[in-house]
Amino acid sequence: MKPPMNFKALPKIDLHLHLDGAIRVATMAELGDELGIKLPSSDPKVLAKFVQVDRDCRSLGDFLKRFDVFYPLLPFARTQERIAYELCEDCQRDNVIYFEARFAPALAANVKFTMEDAVVAALEGFRRGQRDFGIRCGLILCCYRSISVQENVETVKLAHRYRDRGVIGIDLAGDENQFAAAPHAEAFALARKLEIPITIHAGEGGHPEHIHEAVFTHGATRIGHGVSLQRDPELLKAVRDRGTVFEICLTSNLQTCTVPSLAAHPFKKFLDEKVRVTLNTDDPAISNITLSDEFALAAREYQLKPAEVRELLLNAAQAAFGEKSLRDDLAAKIHFPAGDPTGD
Ligand SMILES: [Zn+2]
Repeated sequence: MKPPMNFKALPKIDLHLHLDGAIRVATMAELGDELGIKLPSSDPKVLAKFVQVDRDCRSLGDFLKRFDVFYPLLPFARTQERIAYELCEDCQRDNVIYFEARFAPALAANVKFTMEDAVVAALEGFRRGQRDFGIRCGLILCCYRSISVQENVETVKLAHRYRDRGVIGIDLAGDENQFAAAPHAEAFALARKLEIPITIHAGEGGHPEHIHEAVFTHGATRIGHGVSLQRDPELLKAVRDRGTVFEICLTSNLQTCTVPSLAAHPFKKFLDEKVRVTLNTDDPAISNITLSDEFALAAREYQLKPAEVRELLLNAAQAAFGEKSLRDDLAAKIHFPAGDPTGD
């Protein structure tokens, strides 16, 4: 029998990670006390039952309801900075050498705390976190399907304004089955004009046409999830030939019922057909996972070979939205430590 794979020992990269989905439960409880915001419990063990989901298949709606519990904590500099800082620590503990975290400034703002305040606070947390934990990261700002196009244009302008201070890309998040991307074309046209890299959540549970639109109309070079690509072989060939990168999040897809089981997930099919796939956590605190967990899960379920694990990691290094020098540096750091931890 092969020894278990030690994925914690591998230097890893997480490209699809939501800042608000990464908040530690203990931190939620403390912030609730500090900010005077009532949560279902101030005991992290009890609170966890309200905000975390297990591996049972539920629904996207049930999954997203968990966020409502702690959303009142978000529009505060103290919160944004602390989540960003602690995420650096959590990633360093899991041997994630680089991550790109994302959040929607419009959903973390209110009348007293602007979208720009939220971006400044998160970037400050990353600045201190990178310094203290010797890790590197970038911030992706999410446009949102259900808000106004003006707010999304403002989000792109913010990304441009803070590009030399750590913002590296633009995303589109929200429920793709209820809200089309098309009304927000102006925001993505501006992002393309300003040469801000684009990733878009598409094909998570929605039609493959959403992936087509994201790539060929809005200019996404990366797709969040893209599970429904399996239903359109022509599109699969087109995005493979174009080199579009797919940010796969296995546990998240199970918990939101995007797929009924890992066996039904197209991850391995994409890998076999040479689509550029990466493995990511999505919402590690809500799902109660680490990136090492996700690699272990994939390796077990799909019998990944060492070369495939390496390919996943290299794909992530090459698809990072940071500078070319950063991508080269990350690719050089992807290696299997002596003794081959995959046991092959
Ligand atoms: Zn996501």
